[in-house]
Amino acid sequence: MKYIPYGRHYIDSDDIKEVTKVLRSDWITQGPKIEEFEEKLAHYCGAKYAVVVSSGTAALHIACLVAGIKPGEEVITTPVTFVASANCILYCGGKPVFADIQEDTANIDPEEIRKKITKKTKAIIPVHYAGQPCDLKEIQEIAKRHNLTVIEDAAHALGAEYKGSKIGSCKYSDMTIFSFHPLKSITTGEGGAILTNSKEYYEKLIMFRQHGVTKDRTKFKFNNDANWYYEMHYLGYNYRLTDIQCALGLSQLRKLDKFIKRRRQIAQIYNKELSKLDGIELPVGKKGVKSARHLYTIRIKGNKRRKIFEALRKRGIGVHLHYIPVYLQPYYQQLGYRKGACPVAENYYNRAITLPLYPKMRDKDVKSVVRILSNTL
Ligand SMILES: *Cc1c(COP(=O)(O)O)cnc(C)c1O
Repeated sequence: MKYIPYGRHYIDSDDIKEVTKVLRSDWITQGPKIEEFEEKLAHYCGAKYAVVVSSGTAALHIACLVAGIKPGEEVITTPVTFVASANCILYCGGKPVFADIQEDTANIDPEEIRKKITKKTKAIIPVHYAGQPCDLKEIQEIAKRHNLTVIEDAAHALGAEYKGSKIGSCKYSDMTIFSFHPLKSITTGEGGAILTNSKEYYEKLIMFRQHGVTKDRTKFKFNNDANWYYEMHYLGYNYRLTDIQCALGLSQLRKLDKFIKRRRQIAQIYNKELSKLDGIELPVGKKGVKSARHLYTIRIKGNKRRKIFEALRKRGIGVHLHYIPVYLQPYYQQLGYRKGACPVAENYYNRAITLPLYPKMRDKDVKSVVRILSNTL
């Protein structure tokens, strides 16, 4: 029996050709493909600037640094996400504050954000769960009122749309981050990006990506015109993405719309076929948004989730669980976070199952997931 994974990258011969070209060229890192990928990505999303980095996690880290998150400051995020969305706050010495999710979309609830704001709140990191955009307009209004920075964690949402604009346009936020991990919309192996419309953020992000160093004379603090001279202004990192990876990214970006279209088709088949079954709840789509359909997560009614999950795995269906609420992790418990803090998120965790969904998945794979699931209910 063939194993159907929950997600899978899509690499074709064009991707391989583009990567090989770079391997034969003069530059395998820090060459022309980096800016080319950044320009195309910014253009696709409708933002002024893009900075590509070595991972989505690196993107979150330097976005938080550039936002000026300092020890003792609070940043509000969702518990229903990958740990990286909150860890980036800890990297800066900040305190993650978890706001509960909406029952229907599993996205962060603006009402809950409002309740969590204190004098120490500095930023909000909303996550577009499963690829469905959050209530960005409401979040932006809260941020404006309290002078907060908004960093969208759009690791799931490259290709998604909110009120007619692409996620990544930063129309409702200060910065947006993407991940190019193989399971996300497009891949560079490992990789990520930060998009912004702020020149100031852009210039700082470029420096934080590369040791906090600049060669731009107009920025020098000391007076030295030797042509070997450079200056370090921040404690930056080596978070660069290579030309090899950017060539792959460029080639993948050309297929992005095709990938998203296929993801939406698969979700539609699931919606149609699964609506005939009792005992499950389907993901809820919001008006005014278009999901990138990174995940298709259903909820099991009653207490049968574990039994169904295990039965599906046993029959070769690579189901998954998104997510264990971040603050339930031992590391966060040891920091003092407690069970019960976000009841809607915990209830979601107790009932969710993510079904397979990836562009290469065939209709007959989707049908066999549906058939096997209906047999386990
Ligand atoms: C994948 C993911 C990240 C981290 O991205 P990496 O590229 O793996 O570092 C961050 N946030 C969310 C919500 C993710 O799904």
